[in-house]
Amino acid sequence: MASELSGIVENSNRIVFFGGAGVSTESGVPDFRSSGGLYSRDTGTSYAPEEVLSHSFFVNHTAEFYDYYRGHLLYPDAKPNPAHLALARLEQAGKLTAVITQNIDGLHQAAGSRTVLELHGSVHRNSCLRCGRTYGLDAILAGDGVPTCECGGVIKPDVVLYEEALDDALMTAAVEQLEAADTLIVGGTSLVVYPAAGLVRAFRGEQLVLINKQPTGYDHLATLVLHEPIGEALGAAVP
Ligand code: ZN
Repeated sequence: MASELSGIVENSNRIVFFGGAGVSTESGVPDFRSSGGLYSRDTGTSYAPEEVLSHSFFVNHTAEFYDYYRGHLLYPDAKPNPAHLALARLEQAGKLTAVITQNIDGLHQAAGSRTVLELHGSVHRNSCLRCGRTYGLDAILAGDGVPTCECGGVIKPDVVLYEEALDDALMTAAVEQLEAADTLIVGGTSLVVYPAAGLVRAFRGEQLVLINKQPTGYDHLATLVLHEPIGEALGAAVP
């Protein structure tokens, strides 16, 4: 019940939120694995989405990578939903210390959140593979084909592709936030995919809240489980 969630929020001083793709679906950004998600859609090529979104595919088929990436991973018109906005309010109120997200859409920052640990990177950061110059999303949206730097180098999104490692410093920061938290709210993730499950185990606090449309393997450990839309749940609990 949402009123139970508002009670937990009231009694917490160091909330960390850990979120997955389900946080952004209410903003119109598709997730990967559900029906209707990216992986159920035709890539328009003979390759599977996991293959197209791999480091080696980026290197060897850069133009095809960008065709898929622009068509399926970029949602420049998406707006923060009530979940993003509620989390920003919690941070402003001094209750929430960090948002840890697996999403790459930048919607937490658009909502006003400041401490956002983007484990999988962001479509809003891009850099030249030759000189390191950085570019915003506009540079990727501006044209067709492979975006190139003034120096002639290829620009690559700062997004963690398959075959690429997560950023060590970011993972360390996420673990430190979780170890210091009194309450962990997990939303929009089934906690199956690495590194989500491992990160939840770093949490040592009292109250674990899970908000997900489907049950997860951690429901039995939770103080509170809400199988309802995350925007509704957080929006109601954080007026
Ligand atoms: Zn360059």
